[in-house]
Amino acid sequence: MQEERQVDVAIIGCGSAGLYTLSKVRPAGKSVVMIDGGELGTTCARVGCMPSKGVIQVAEDVHRREVYSRFGLEGGEQLALDVEDAMEYVRDLRDNFVDRVLSNSSDNFPEGMLIDSYAHFVEPNVLETADGQRIRAERIVIATGSRPLIPAAWAEFRDDIITTDEFFELEQLPGSAAIIGMGVIGLEIGQSMKRLGVQVTGIDLAETIGGLSDPEVAKHAIEIIGKEIPLWLGAPAELSRAEDGRIKVTAGEHSVVVDKVFASLGRVPNVDKLNLEAIGVACDARGVPLHNPNTMQIGDLPIYIAGDVTAERPLLHEAGDEGRIAGFNAATGSNMAFKRKTPLSIVFSDPNIVHVGASFASLDPDTTAVGAMMMAPVGRALIMAKNRGIIRVYADKASGKLLGGEMICAKGENLGHLLAWCIQMDLTVGQLLQMPFYHPVMEEALQAALNDLYGKVEKKNDSPITELQPL
Ligand SMILES: Cc1cc2nc3c(=O)[nH]c(=O)nc-3n(C[C@H](O)[C@H](O)[C@H](O)COP(=O)(O)OP(=O)(O)OC[C@H]3O[C@@H](n4cnc5c(N)ncnc54)[C@H](O)[C@@H]3O)c2cc1C
Repeated sequence: MQEERQVDVAIIGCGSAGLYTLSKVRPAGKSVVMIDGGELGTTCARVGCMPSKGVIQVAEDVHRREVYSRFGLEGGEQLALDVEDAMEYVRDLRDNFVDRVLSNSSDNFPEGMLIDSYAHFVEPNVLETADGQRIRAERIVIATGSRPLIPAAWAEFRDDIITTDEFFELEQLPGSAAIIGMGVIGLEIGQSMKRLGVQVTGIDLAETIGGLSDPEVAKHAIEIIGKEIPLWLGAPAELSRAEDGRIKVTAGEHSVVVDKVFASLGRVPNVDKLNLEAIGVACDARGVPLHNPNTMQIGDLPIYIAGDVTAERPLLHEAGDEGRIAGFNAATGSNMAFKRKTPLSIVFSDPNIVHVGASFASLDPDTTAVGAMMMAPVGRALIMAKNRGIIRVYADKASGKLLGGEMICAKGENLGHLLAWCIQMDLTVGQLLQMPFYHPVMEEALQAALNDLYGKVEKKNDSPITELQPL
């Protein structure tokens, strides 16, 4: 009979969620194994958050030359971009982030704690690894992440399809590319590619971009981004081989022949190789085991799930929280429920696209008040030559409680945080207006949107001066 190794906790996946899980399991004094058959260093640092922001920064700085002449700065058109150097810079930056992750994690694991192999279930408490080891664990955490989706029908074009798994390794960029999927990743990388000199076409099955559900904000986003990138929305993309050997992409009435396709259609949770049948759990349509998002427990099994593999909130800070919850509960067995944070998601496009709190689509129009501010006249935005976009904020009409917001605007990454913190603190629009707003800052645009919203809610401040609290 095969020898079994016994531990208190086994964590499948040594990415961000797995490492956050470990941060709660180890201090509890539990014996633990981390199992990962892929490349270490986390998706975030290797092929996700960090290198993508590196590319975006370079692309934004190059693009900025378009406003130089307005400012009286001459010579912007002579700025030369060396794509090979730029991509190498991004890889160096990336390597730095990866090294930092490794030196704070697996480099210091005690011998035997990390198993360099893929794992699957044999029983609810037993795992087997691809290299033949058997592990019996009192509790198990699944933190296996996700991977880019490439439709099976596109297999024959695989060599001409780039995903984020390959993008950062490119030494040169293609001359032209179709960005298929204009969600977060498609927008961030697609806009950057355009600014780095690639002829880009953006395609999405949806009638919106960046996941926006507010039709007003979506309209502005499509107009702003559409000025830079031709956008074909509302029809599925199909690939075929063009006569010259390149790829022909067709969507509805449009078609274009491109050098490469950038596939940003979403990500697939890594559940297919876990042999979940062995634990007999109910799964959703994507094959993800049904679980409690407050305890991260799967059914009533001694098994927890965390990070992108849940396919629920595929964001780094959420992977962190889910890992902490799963880790705490796996270490203690208490299955304690934790409150989840106010949703916040940021697309680092230029301008930023931000969703915070409840989405517009999820709100009842009869009980919701909406406030708005256009960016065109905002002083700070004008000074920065970034006065494009709109902020829309939502509140419960009766109580004045802030519920959410969607926006496309410069410095949205910061405004989104402010709103998320206020929503999480259950503040009303009136209370927010009593906060300090400096001048001239982008927050004044948010203040104007909140003022508009305040006029539409029933619950007002108990003060003769709206913006001030009586002493
Ligand atoms: C291009 C891009 C940009 C992004 N930008 C942002 C951003 O700006 N902000 C943000 O918040 N989020 C961003 N994200 C999302 C963020 O990176 C993820 O939410 C986060 O990395 C998920 O961490 P994870 O631990 O779930 O997965 P991962 O870090 O992928 O870890 C999963 C691990 O599991 C291993 N594994 C898989 N299957 C098995 C198995 N059967 N056995 C053993 N090991 C297995 C894998 O090898 C991997 O190491 C971005 C993602 C991408 C792709």
